[in-house]
Order: sequence, then C-alpha cells, then structure tokens
Amino acid sequence: MKTFSELNLIAPVLRALADENYDTPTPIQAQTIPAALRGRDVLGCAQTGTGKTAAFALPILNKLGKQSRKATANSPYALVLSPTRELAIQIGESFSTYGKHLHLRQAVVYGGVHQRKQVRDLNRGAHLLIATPGRLLDLMNQGHLQLNQLKFFVLDEADRMLDMGFLPDLRRIIGQLPEQRQSLFFSATLPSSIVSLSRSLLHNPVSITVTPSASHVEKIEQRIMFVERGAKKALLRKILAGEDIQRALVFTKTKRTANVLEKQLVRNGFKAAAIHGDKSQNARQRVLQSFRSKKIQVLVATDVAARGIDIDRITHVVNFDMPIEPESYVHRIGRTGRAGAAGVALSLCCPDEHRELRLIERLIGRKVPVDNDHPQPTSQHRDPASPRRPRRRGAPKPRPSSKRAVTAGFVDDPSTDSVPERAPHGKRQTRRKGARNKQRAKRSK
Ligand code: AMP
Repeated sequence: MKTFSELNLIAPVLRALADENYDTPTPIQAQTIPAALRGRDVLGCAQTGTGKTAAFALPILNKLGKQSRKATANSPYALVLSPTRELAIQIGESFSTYGKHLHLRQAVVYGGVHQRKQVRDLNRGAHLLIATPGRLLDLMNQGHLQLNQLKFFVLDEADRMLDMGFLPDLRRIIGQLPEQRQSLFFSATLPSSIVSLSRSLLHNPVSITVTPSASHVEKIEQRIMFVERGAKKALLRKILAGEDIQRALVFTKTKRTANVLEKQLVRNGFKAAAIHGDKSQNARQRVLQSFRSKKIQVLVATDVAARGIDIDRITHVVNFDMPIEPESYVHRIGRTGRAGAAGVALSLCCPDEHRELRLIERLIGRKVPVDNDHPQPTSQHRDPASPRRPRRRGAPKPRPSSKRAVTAGFVDDPSTDSVPERAPHGKRQTRRKGARNKQRAKRSK
C-alpha cells in the first residue's frame, strides 16, 4: 500500500496530513488522488466514512496551492456542492484542516441562516466555495457570485441530492459551469438517474468504486437483538448503561420517536439529545457540536437528519427501529468504526421488523449474529409477513398493501409515529400512503 508521500503531493499538504497522523491513503484516496492530479474527471462510488472528502479535497488543494493565485471577489476557482448544511460545514472544516499550511481562502454558504456573512466572505474573495444548491442559486441570482473562473467542480453525495429533490437546482447550476473545468462526482449508489446526471457533467471520467459494505462494514461488530416493540425502550436504556459506550448514535424511524427517546433518556440521567428535520438548522448544529465535544453522549437521530454526519469516535450505533430501506442500514452503521477504528452496531428487531432484517442480510450478504442475552428476547421466527410461514388452507392471500403497512411500521403503537421521516420531496407522498394504509386497516377491522 502506498503512503501519501508517494502521491506527488506538495509539502504543505503532506505536512497537514502528518499533523493529522494520516500516513496511508484509504482506497478511494489511493485511486482518486493520482487520477485527479493528472487532470482527469472522476466518477467515485463511495460513501461517507471511506475518506472521500480528502480524496477530492487533497488534489484541489494541491493544484490551487501550486498556482498561488490571488482569490478574486465573488468568483471562486473551486466549487463543492453538498446536499446538507451539516455536510457543507464538515467539508469546509476538512478543507481548512488539509489546507492549513496553504494561504487559500474559503467560503461556506448554506440556507437557513442570514446571508450577510456569506456575501461578505464572497466579496472578500474565496479560492474555494462549499455550498448547498439552494443558497448557491440564491446568491447567483442576486449577483453575488459568478462561476466563470471555476476550475474544479465537485458534486458530493449526488444520490442524496436527487433524493432530496435537488435535481432542478443541480441542472441550473451545471448549466452555468464553464466548459473548461475538472469535475469530480461522488455518490454512495449509482442508480440510472445518477449515471445519466454524471454523463451530463463528466468528460471521459475515471470510474472508481470502493465497497464500504465489504471493507468498512466488515470491521464493525454487528449484533441483532430480538425484542418486543414495547420492550425496546428498556432494552435501549440497558444497552446504553451497560456497554462501554463513549458516543452512541441511536436511529429512529420517526421524528416523534426521536423526541420521546430524548425525553426519556434525559429523565433517566443520560446525556442525550435528538436531531431531526423539525429542529431548526441552528438547533441541529448546536446539538452536533455538543455531541462532538462530548457534552452529549447519546445522539438520537432520524436517517434524514443524520445524513453525512462525520463525527469521529462514535463507538456504538443502535438501530432502535430497523431501517425501512436496507441501504440505510449500511449508511447508519457506517457512522461508527471510522477510519479503521472498531465500532459496534446493535439492532433492536421486533416481530414485525423481521422482513427488514432479511432484506438487510440479503444486501450485506451475510447473517447478522444474534444477541439474545438480554431480559426479554423474542423468537427469531415470528414475522407475520414472513413467506416461510405457511398460509392456513382457505385463508385469503395477503394483499401487497398489508405487507407494505407492516414494513413501513404502521402499527398501533403509541410510542411510534406512523410517518417515517423522509427527505422533503417524499414527505407528502409518504403521508398519503400512511393515510391510505390506516384507512385500509380500519376497513379490515
Ligand atoms: P469521510 O469519508 O471523508 O467523511 O472521512 C471519514 C473519516 O476518516 C474522517 O473523520 C477523516 O478524518 C478520516 N480519514 C480520512 N482519510 C484518512 C486517512 N487516510 N487516514 C486516517 N483517517 C482518515
């Protein structure tokens, strides 16, 4: 395996990496950095936790550091687009860390806050701009920003951007990019919509895929705990009190469950807080900061709010609710075990969540070890939607919609809200589906 010193990086960048104690590039870095330094476009299939931020940040810093050009007002040389404010801020911090011995200026712009400071940073001149799409377009429309000097364009977490309904904004931004530029495109998954977006952006790209599910996720100690839904809260408290937990991230399906858990955990003496889409950007940022500085030990989050969270040394991930989409399992547990560190992922699975577990095991290609060493274990084979369960003779075939209702967690449980938190554009549809399923359940009573 190569070290960073063999990658043709300039001394100030190498010094910053040494300051961070990084000596060996991660696989996405080892493949992306040489290609990007040669000026190639890159299509990278990698998710948060693989070291992809440094994979695009280092070649850009290296090239800008070599050129030593002055920053010009309102016209950056490099633009990184991120789907969320949290990720934009983290990317900005990574650029500051890796570029700390270079004299480059950067601006980070995102919505949900006043634009005054962001406009001032752009007016002063920034070599690098990290932005979320909506605020970027706002600033461009107001004349605070031109992209005509851009040399590098990075689209990070492209699949998340499309999930969140940013495609029209992306198209508008891509339409403003100069022809002569280098583009680096990263996505955790490559569905056809992403491939076609990448084609509109990249010229003869080098394709690089790293498989975190095989390499990164393998290092995480995963356990499944079968438990009744009503016993989950007590089990969570037991886990958090008993395991050697320094920082735990607990995932819930809904915003309401996140709030309920936060209250109960705090009442039971845990240093806990929740983040989800109903909390203001500032409140989310404050909670993340407290989690980073260890003022909070347990962070309860929905999938949407936890996207792209990069916090080192999360020792445990607990799936309080099983994720609806199996890919989310890989994203969730990938929050622990960062950069080679060990991590533990525990999943609390109640009888109506066994189908989700089967889908996860199919995706990761192996069985998750069972840990039933807790006070109220349930059997592993009580999934009412399980196709292995024989149908009584003459009983009606289960309708696909009733299966979907079980899968989506529409159960009569006061501890859960029937609306899983979704990215903004999917919300209305999910609510409609929820209402439909509830009506069907009423009719069938
Ligand atoms: P990322 O996938 O960019 O969010 O990075 C995941 C974590 O890995 C971050 O906390 C980085 O600080 C860390 N990291 C990135 N590259 C390396 C490396 N080559 N060696 C050690 N840690 C790294």
